[in-house]
Amino acid sequence: MRLIYFFVVAVCLTVSSTPISAHFYPNISSIPPSFNHPRGAWEAFRNFSGCHPGEKVDGLSKLKNYLKHFGYINSSSEFTDDFDDALRFALETYQKNFNLNATGELDERTLQQIVRPRCGVPDIVNGSTTMNSGKETTSPSNATHFHTVSHYSFFPGTPRWPDSRRDLTYAFEPENNLTDDVKSVFTRAFERWSTVTTLTFTQTASFYDADIKIGFFVGDHGDGEPFDGVLGTLAHAFSPTSGRLHLDGAETWVVSGDVTTSSETSAVDLESVAVHEIGHLLGLGHSSEEEAIMYPTISSRSRKVELASDDVTGIQQLYGANPSYNGSSTPSAGAEERDNSNAAPNISGSMWAMRALLTVGFGLLLLF
Ligand SMILES: [Zn+2]
Ligand SMILES: [Zn+2]
Repeated sequence: MRLIYFFVVAVCLTVSSTPISAHFYPNISSIPPSFNHPRGAWEAFRNFSGCHPGEKVDGLSKLKNYLKHFGYINSSSEFTDDFDDALRFALETYQKNFNLNATGELDERTLQQIVRPRCGVPDIVNGSTTMNSGKETTSPSNATHFHTVSHYSFFPGTPRWPDSRRDLTYAFEPENNLTDDVKSVFTRAFERWSTVTTLTFTQTASFYDADIKIGFFVGDHGDGEPFDGVLGTLAHAFSPTSGRLHLDGAETWVVSGDVTTSSETSAVDLESVAVHEIGHLLGLGHSSEEEAIMYPTISSRSRKVELASDDVTGIQQLYGANPSYNGSSTPSAGAEERDNSNAAPNISGSMWAMRALLTVGFGLLLLF
């Protein structure tokens, strides 16, 4: 059971974690111009473009290991470099989850998606997925299903924080010696989730007593999920009520400023990754909705911090809605955004409400 595994991991971590000082850049202009432009951890996979089933290609076993890590191949034996049926089937499932043509081939678009930096949490946990490949096929002619497909998912068994633990505390690995600027990024990220639910998050100095423990690590850090250096896997977090959020200390983390204008190709926006990983801490799995925070990949030099309606619907299924949430914006949204929403009265809120009603309606249909 994955949950038992998570528990064992949590216990082991207490004794074997190796926190480090991560690379932080307070803003994009502070990244030194001479900084290296390292290749991402999975860039070599691009060489497999055009490989076909039946071929044997050096290094293909590494791609199989990648797919195994994220839940697409279930095998305990050593992989060969053969493009076999297991690889083709895994690719088809992967392609469905990422809204690509399910050809089972290593086409250019599929490889582009595969090499993109991503969260280390598997898309398929314990062989089950509620990303696209695990959904019922919806037919446009079936009016009941139309507009009601949600993409958010939960971990197997739907673990969540119990009613008695809705006011959660978080703390930072003391050995990381994080600055207040870095810590405030997480504060903002937590606020995005507390805005839409009745959960609250409070920073505490007591790391070992905190519900949520945040730390930066490099390489093998004792939980069987080693980080892989620049890009590749950026971070991972465990399902409730583990509360562990780990980030790869080898990344070029940008704390503030417009990451999209960075000259450093491997610059990663810290808040974007933090918002995603908190979703896992609260019980959300990955979503096939590309706009969703819980979509598994995020390109370097890009920023995505606003919860999509898919994320909101998913988290409210677990914890209910915050009565003061109007469905249109987060508290961290700038004044400019609030002004815009005043000028165009609550259109996105109305659309969100409509979608929520349709989703609830569909849920009731399933129940009765
Ligand atoms: Zn994730
Ligand atoms: Zn870890």
